Amino acid sequence: ASVAPPGVPPPRKPRIATVSLAGCFGCHMSLLDTDERLLTLVDVVELDRSPLTDLKHVSSLGDCDIGLIEGGLCNNENVEVLREFRARCKVLVAVGACAVNGGLPAQRNALDVQDLLQSVYLTDPGLSPGARIPDDPELPLLLANVHPLHEVVRIDHVLPGCPPTADAIWQLLTALLDGRTPQLTRAELRYD
Ligand code: SF4
Repeated sequence: ASVAPPGVPPPRKPRIATVSLAGCFGCHMSLLDTDERLLTLVDVVELDRSPLTDLKHVSSLGDCDIGLIEGGLCNNENVEVLREFRARCKVLVAVGACAVNGGLPAQRNALDVQDLLQSVYLTDPGLSPGARIPDDPELPLLLANVHPLHEVVRIDHVLPGCPPTADAIWQLLTALLDGRTPQLTRAELRYD
């Protein structure tokens, strides 16, 4: 390995952040399915905020080279986090169907949110006495519809699939780390 001359800092490793918004963590599971390739990855990148690190404290997001976002937008907190990722990440990737087009959570878009809350918390059978619609001010506010990421910020790359395969995520990530434009073949992409 080359050694930097005295006083010259070693090259900075690319910094990656990942987050799950309105998703099920299945896309993160698919990333974990890259198995032993993850060991290669952690050698060459720094992980910023990410559920992959399992850090329990919430740290503020640093400046990142790549942000991978799973899940769409179902509440105001999702929107804030997405905007923070856009501001901090040079390249932002929508990973998975929920991020790309709303996915499964967007199936609620055909229904009225207020009707849903009332039926789940006030009128459906089996409710505890005194049940009420949660209104703690710390709870994120639900949006009327679930939105894909590109409706709120500019997205640089999309990776469809529910979830995308581990190989597809790996192809995309390694291309970005190499400074190449990801070009996945039809066989590597999936739309279900
Ligand atoms: Fe889960 Fe599929 Fe959405 Fe990924 S795309 S977060 S696997 S529901």
